[in-house]
Amino acid sequence: MTSYKLLLLPGDGIGPEVMAEVEKVIGALDALGLARFEIERDLVGGSAIDAHGKPLTDEALARADAADAILLGAVGGPKWADVAYEIRPEAGLLRLRKDLGLFANLRPAICYPALADASALKRELVEGLDIMIVRELTGGVYFGEPKEITTLPDGSKRAVDTQVYTTAEIERIAHVAFDLARKRSGRVASAEKHNVMKSGVLWKEVVTKVHADYSDVTLEHVLADNCAMQLVRRPKQYDVLVTDNLFGDVLSDVAAMLTGSLGMLPSASLGAVDAKGSRKALYEPVHGSAPDIAGKGYANPIAMIGSLAMCLRYSFGLGEAADLLESAVTRTLASGARTRDIAAEGITPISTSEMGDAIIRELKHAA
Ligand code: NAD
Repeated sequence: MTSYKLLLLPGDGIGPEVMAEVEKVIGALDALGLARFEIERDLVGGSAIDAHGKPLTDEALARADAADAILLGAVGGPKWADVAYEIRPEAGLLRLRKDLGLFANLRPAICYPALADASALKRELVEGLDIMIVRELTGGVYFGEPKEITTLPDGSKRAVDTQVYTTAEIERIAHVAFDLARKRSGRVASAEKHNVMKSGVLWKEVVTKVHADYSDVTLEHVLADNCAMQLVRRPKQYDVLVTDNLFGDVLSDVAAMLTGSLGMLPSASLGAVDAKGSRKALYEPVHGSAPDIAGKGYANPIAMIGSLAMCLRYSFGLGEAADLLESAVTRTLASGARTRDIAAEGITPISTSEMGDAIIRELKHAA
């Protein structure tokens, strides 16, 4: 059986706690003969600042570059609130994304039947929800130049951010979305604002052109503001939703809240496919380091375990093992197991490690 090189970067706060559960799942997958890994570990974020004075060392970056995939917990926390901007914990994560060219951010928003009542929307609107948001991650207004605040002659200030996209940047993210749609229900919605933004005009034009290679997939264009409204009005109309960095940031947070808890949401950040057919990839929960609950055994490990399932599917082609792991999570929730963040009133919550153990029991039962 192929052994995959996996780099684990637990990070800060609840990062190491949820990563410990993933390590247990990795052990179980190995014992069941479903997947084999060569594990390496390193530091990122505040823990790397404490040990090395910077949030990501060159050695850790080289390790990440050499790995088949990276799993990251979360970075940051009040302990590092006052470090210099260039070496803040998040800078380690941004460097990983930028240096490894991770331009495609995949954020599934899945509403588990057992948790439909935890959503901000009515059960019938979200039950069975399964959206994949594909957000462009390395371009757009967060990176465009000029990006500055200047002082005007009258002493007041002027701030500029630049929204910029090239044909190539839009093409590659559109391909990711259409390829994914082929493996799902064959529908893509593309969100931009071509009515008021030139980058939106180009976005729509390029996505339409790329669509010509995917006659089996349907494409719908939607204005990003209308898309936000539709996500809370009738979210199940969407399957794959592709959009730029800024709109993706906002729309994926809206979609996150449809599912109930931040502790449930995994994500993948993918790079370009190379000549050998492989791609750089980093998998991480959507949530942060949750300093308010760190060290208490309260953290929900499902987002982190779901990130491992995405890694099995998208980096290693182990769709069957990913399905088994995801259905183990579904059954664990159906059995009533709840960490504090998803426990309804009157339900006694279980700890982070008890949730990990319960998922592994279901995994072993199904395999
Ligand atoms: P957060 O996601 O850490 O926490 C928000 C709320 O959700 C908290 O109440 C927290 O207890 C809860 N929560 C989050 N994950 C949970 C889980 N797995 N189980 C149960 N409850 C969970 O966001 P925040 O409080 O805004 O940020 C805290 C720190 O994390 C900051 O330093 C921030 O910069 C950092 N952060 C890091 C990342 C990342 O590493 N990718 C992302 C977001 C925030």
